[in-house]
Amino acid sequence: MAKEAAPHVLLICYPGQGHINPMIRLAKRIASKGLLVTCSSSSIVRDKLAAASGVSAGGDGVLVGRGRIRFDFLDDHFDGTELDLHNFLRHLETAGRLALAGLLGRQAEAGRPVACIVGNPFLPWATDVAAEAGIPSAVLWVQSCAVFSIYYHFVHGLAEFPREDDPDARFALPGLPALSVADVPSFLLASHPYKVLGDTIQDQYRNMGKASWVFVNSFAELERDVIAALPGVRPRPPQLIPVGPLVELGGHDDDGGVAVRGDLIRAADDCVGWLDAQAPRSVVYASVGSIVMLPAEAVAEMAHGLASSSGRPFLWVVRPDTRALLPEGFLDAAAGRGMVVPWSPQDRVLAHAAVACFLTHCGWNSTLETIAAGVPVVAFPQWGDQCTDAKFLVDVLKMGVHLRAPLRREGVREAVEAVTTGPEAGAMLANARSWSAAARAAVAPGGSSDRHVQAFVDEVSRRAR
Ligand code: UDP
Repeated sequence: MAKEAAPHVLLICYPGQGHINPMIRLAKRIASKGLLVTCSSSSIVRDKLAAASGVSAGGDGVLVGRGRIRFDFLDDHFDGTELDLHNFLRHLETAGRLALAGLLGRQAEAGRPVACIVGNPFLPWATDVAAEAGIPSAVLWVQSCAVFSIYYHFVHGLAEFPREDDPDARFALPGLPALSVADVPSFLLASHPYKVLGDTIQDQYRNMGKASWVFVNSFAELERDVIAALPGVRPRPPQLIPVGPLVELGGHDDDGGVAVRGDLIRAADDCVGWLDAQAPRSVVYASVGSIVMLPAEAVAEMAHGLASSSGRPFLWVVRPDTRALLPEGFLDAAAGRGMVVPWSPQDRVLAHAAVACFLTHCGWNSTLETIAAGVPVVAFPQWGDQCTDAKFLVDVLKMGVHLRAPLRREGVREAVEAVTTGPEAGAMLANARSWSAAARAAVAPGGSSDRHVQAFVDEVSRRAR
């Protein structure tokens, strides 16, 4: 078997959309600089990726710039039992350790030994498997540096978190704006129903100190203050290395035109043609990402709110698991003005000149994507880090407005008007555009994040020699 000439990096992630996308985008950046990159995850997503994105496992993969990307899944055999996140992660660990060791063995036998594993905070055991195999490892943190800092303070008991019975209380951490109860990742609040998430948050830091690199999907200019403050925290956290924003830049990405995508639901590409027919900066794009489930009442209010937003056209992502919650007759009534799709090619949508604003749940990927595209937001966070990301978009970057629960149709209409035609709309658009320029500069050749990726590629290549 001929030995692969290029050093081989294995990226592995939790099998969720918000983890798969940044993994593939980092893979592209690394591959474009000449390495062979294998993307991996649990076998649980293998069929969905194949059906929705044409991802096929094994083989030589596709050329991306000067390198190649391929996929290979863990043989971790899930039987389809529904588990909560905590138990799923436990199960993933038990099956994944063996399966990852097996995957490494198969790569070595195929003549492409893995020179470095880039893991994911939900899979801290990947670092152990790498160490046992004598391979260096890295971690890709897929949330913001701000959220990294907040969780780090929580895990180490370094801060007094705000109490829900005092909504006016503010809480300060170095490098962050004062946060209220509404702005803190909701998993840290006492009333959050999902207590086991505390363990999951803690686990993310379990092995991080053992990794040679801790990458973060952010960029130095965006989170300068918190990045500067972290080295002063004790115990000292690992150094965060920004490599983002890990976004697709409107079709001009590092994959040289090769579409390597990781959608778990097939994207309705026809919505781009529909956008082509709309006036510039006219459309409200709305999506709550891959996990948030809005209650039926909120879906109905959103529907009426979008339908009544000053006659604006709208493109609304309503996933297949939510479609039944749409008000009766809504799709027919909306047909002239709105388009409802089960999943969109969000990068292409946000890059489209017809889009005026993004009504978003503020997942970190969506947050970075709208920053990179320069599209102002209506921030509608539901839980977790979305609350902190929303605060950041509205009060720090000043590129949007909040839409607070409980959702009411008038609230949707007013928020859309505020961000598109209100007295502050022009300033918000200007801010969004200036952050877009900074985001693009960070990943352009020689930009701050590009240099970090290059340094990693150089070091892996040096060690593999
Ligand atoms: N996404 C997409 N099409 C959609 C909705 C979402 O491609 O219709 C992508 C979006 O671009 C982002 C990811 O799915 O990269 C969602 O990640 P995010 O962190 O925003 O939210 P999560 O789904 O993890 O809550």
